[in-house]
Amino acid sequence: MIKDIQQEILRIKKEKSITILAHSYQAEEIQEIADYTGDSFRLSELAADDPNNTLIMCGVHFMAETCKLLSPNKKVILAKEGCGCPMAEQLSVEELRLLKQTYPDHTVVAYINTTAALKTECDVCVTSSSAVEICKKIENDKILFIPDCNLGAFVAEQLPEKQIKLIKGGCPIHAAVTEKEALAAKEQHPNALMLVHPECIPAVTKYADYIGSTSGIVAFAKKSEAKEFIIGTEISIAEHLQLECPDKEFYTLSKHLICPDMKRTTLMDVLKALQGGGLEIEMSDEVMKKASVCINRMLELG
Ligand code: SF4
Repeated sequence: MIKDIQQEILRIKKEKSITILAHSYQAEEIQEIADYTGDSFRLSELAADDPNNTLIMCGVHFMAETCKLLSPNKKVILAKEGCGCPMAEQLSVEELRLLKQTYPDHTVVAYINTTAALKTECDVCVTSSSAVEICKKIENDKILFIPDCNLGAFVAEQLPEKQIKLIKGGCPIHAAVTEKEALAAKEQHPNALMLVHPECIPAVTKYADYIGSTSGIVAFAKKSEAKEFIIGTEISIAEHLQLECPDKEFYTLSKHLICPDMKRTTLMDVLKALQGGGLEIEMSDEVMKKASVCINRMLELG
């Protein structure tokens, strides 16, 4: 049944010249039919260079928006309408404007996991891979980092010369991992290296052998000589790594590391999106223009 749906997806996408993007947190059967897999920003960059003019994003809403910002003349469809990222929507534009009034001399740095509307009020974007490097290059020593206080705390630790103002917010999935779970995982797998996403709380990242983005974790695990790993990010990453590296063992740091929004997209949703379903991403010219400034600034500094 799965194979039949996959075959039909492959047939239609070829016939209609549509490119499918699947974030790394998507299920294996979706990754298998995707043209590109990986972190959200990398997917948007690859899609921008792709010859096809229609893109289907299997992920959450802000990822499809980022894709549209990088490919303004292409049709971008979110495979499953209603898939959102709670962190991206935590802070409203009005709340950010108030924060900017409180910290008028700060450069506003937005994690890429934000809505396009919020990006219009920010100076520069960062990804979890580029956050430290980009914040270091910002001339202003005063930075207002939104919305993830855990990623922000990780950046602040690397850059003690900067005054980084954090706000309360972050990924509810990664931030829910506890120190107790980190200690239990280490005790259960004493020979494993622990690789953790910086969206986790500092009380967890302090036990990590490596802290990095999803793609950083994947690259580290593949390259490492070690044979066992505790994976401190969304559960799909441990599953994908296990399939790709059968000679190694991967354990999840917490059984709660499952993003419900990322898990809502099914193969049938992808098929329906190819047949005219899904949600087409549309933004006003003003939002497109202003949000792109913040992304272009990231590309200049990165
Ligand atoms: S894992 Fe966290 S940051 Fe990623 S989409 Fe889910 S809620 Fe958002």
